[in-house]
Amino acid sequence: MKTIGLLGGMSWESTQSYYRALNEGVKAALGGLHSAKIVMVSVDFAEIEALQHAGRWDETAVILGDAAVAVESAGADFLLICTNTMHKVAQQVQAQIGIPLLHIADATADVLEAHGIARVGLLGTRFTMEEAFYRERLEARGIEVLIPEQAERDLVHRVIYEELCLGRIEQASKSAYLDIVQALARKGAQGVILGCTEIALLIQQADTEVPLFDTTAIHARSAVEWALAG
Ligand code: GLU
Repeated sequence: MKTIGLLGGMSWESTQSYYRALNEGVKAALGGLHSAKIVMVSVDFAEIEALQHAGRWDETAVILGDAAVAVESAGADFLLICTNTMHKVAQQVQAQIGIPLLHIADATADVLEAHGIARVGLLGTRFTMEEAFYRERLEARGIEVLIPEQAERDLVHRVIYEELCLGRIEQASKSAYLDIVQALARKGAQGVILGCTEIALLIQQADTEVPLFDTTAIHARSAVEWALAG
């Protein structure tokens, strides 16, 4: 079994989901007392969040690059950045290390392709929904990406930083998110990407008929496959 490297803490609420999913995945595959081999560096999200909203992405790349070097030195065979948003600096992180980075959007595109999804809605932070770094990765695979309207994007973004990353789960936000999922489906989305690693803490597949693609679960499943391959 290969050792999975994680950059966690963005936020730690979703890193918990990764830790559980990776261990459950290895246990499901190998049985008994098997669990995932994991090396993690977990950052202080307050520092990252302040730099994100100040547009100081190069400084976040330095923090994550240093963390990635530490994860590699500690014996990881490949790396996961446990957030969609911070894939904005994925290339800069990859440039610092010799081990491969398992990109969350590539893992998601694989699953969308397997489900025959050609047009998909995307929920995430404003950075993930509005900027090119994430969407273009899906579009390069021939998948059309729909994003919510401006006011809806503001709500989705605000709930991520002011509620989900703080461990707060609010009914009103859940309803609002589900309305936005429905609106994307009405515009032709065949499914919706939960493109922020905390969103599955708020809405789940049982809440809607619209197929949901949870990037945390997808990224973790793909990591388990990598860890156990060949
Ligand atoms: N975990 C979130 C994501 O997947 C947002 C927190 C962050 O900005 O990294 O995008």
